[in-house]
Amino acid sequence: MVIMNYELAIVGSGAAGFTGAIYAKRAGIKTVVIDKGIGGGLANVSPKIENFPGFESISGMELMEKMKKHASNYADFRFNEEITEINKINDSFKISTNKETYNVKAIILCTGTEYRKLNVTGEKELTGKGVSYCATCDGFFFKDKKVAVIGGGNSALIESIYLKQIGCKEVYVIHRRDQLRAEKAYQDEAIEKGVKLIFNTKLESINGDQKIEYLTLNDVKTDKKSKFFVDGLFISIGEVPQNDLAKQLGVKLDEKGFIVTDRQLRTNIKGVYAAGDITGGLRQVITACAEGAIAALSSTESLGKKYPY
Ligand code: NAP
Repeated sequence: MVIMNYELAIVGSGAAGFTGAIYAKRAGIKTVVIDKGIGGGLANVSPKIENFPGFESISGMELMEKMKKHASNYADFRFNEEITEINKINDSFKISTNKETYNVKAIILCTGTEYRKLNVTGEKELTGKGVSYCATCDGFFFKDKKVAVIGGGNSALIESIYLKQIGCKEVYVIHRRDQLRAEKAYQDEAIEKGVKLIFNTKLESINGDQKIEYLTLNDVKTDKKSKFFVDGLFISIGEVPQNDLAKQLGVKLDEKGFIVTDRQLRTNIKGVYAAGDITGGLRQVITACAEGAIAALSSTESLGKKYPY
């Protein structure tokens, strides 16, 4: 078995991983970036990003492509490579993937988050048959159709605006409470674009055989159930941290499962750092980039290197 030796492994290549790669290599660190997918993370599917300085409005996919191209000048990227096991052995880490084995001295976990599931009847069976978690990816199939978005946060509102924009005939946001969590600017824009809001309503089940037919809704104030016919359903109820590898390493997590770090992005395990959405808090592309840079430079302390700060 050939073991690949690097100083630093960055696990996950969204905004944090890409930025970490740039800063690490520029600090003289031999770096490999391992990602189980194509890179870009969840930002890839953001229809538009309007708060990343320098880009007044850009799609998540385009911004991530630009970062990927930039970062690939610096580190070795391994896409579509999944880590199967990760262990600390003395002062090093052994990382086994479905393709290679790596020996590294430090790790930055940039594993991000994944979509939260509702866990209602029909959700699993009808995913891809009318049920989706991503309007950018699947909205196109529902042009001229009636769709609903579940959730009340920024993501749900942005998805609803996007669905209206691409020509869905009717777009409903169904929220379990009487108040949205989303920023007012998104609420105003959604209403102005003709999105209809349904409050105090829970989705109980998704019904259909080969494709979605109707939703069973429950009015939480009256406890009355109703059938709501739709062609498509977008579930947008937040994200959960992808923390399996952190758990394997014994990294400390908070009560929501995000990685606990200090200001230098160190975890409780020596040589393991974390950056981006996996650290929780304000989960934005700009903060992920900042954390990627800090974690990369912090990792020099585990590699016997110095940088001036
Ligand atoms: P979020 O802010 O956590 O909102 C999740 C929404 O889903 C909430 O309204 C919540 O209801 C609802 N929800 C959660 N579990 C539910 C369940 N089991 N059944 C029904 N509804 C449920 O998530 P998000 O909108 O995906 O945003 C995630 C993070 O990204 C946030 O920090 C957000 O600010 C950020 N973000 C920022 C931007 C931007 O600034 N441009 C864009 C998108 C996302 P309750 O309100 O009742 O809890």
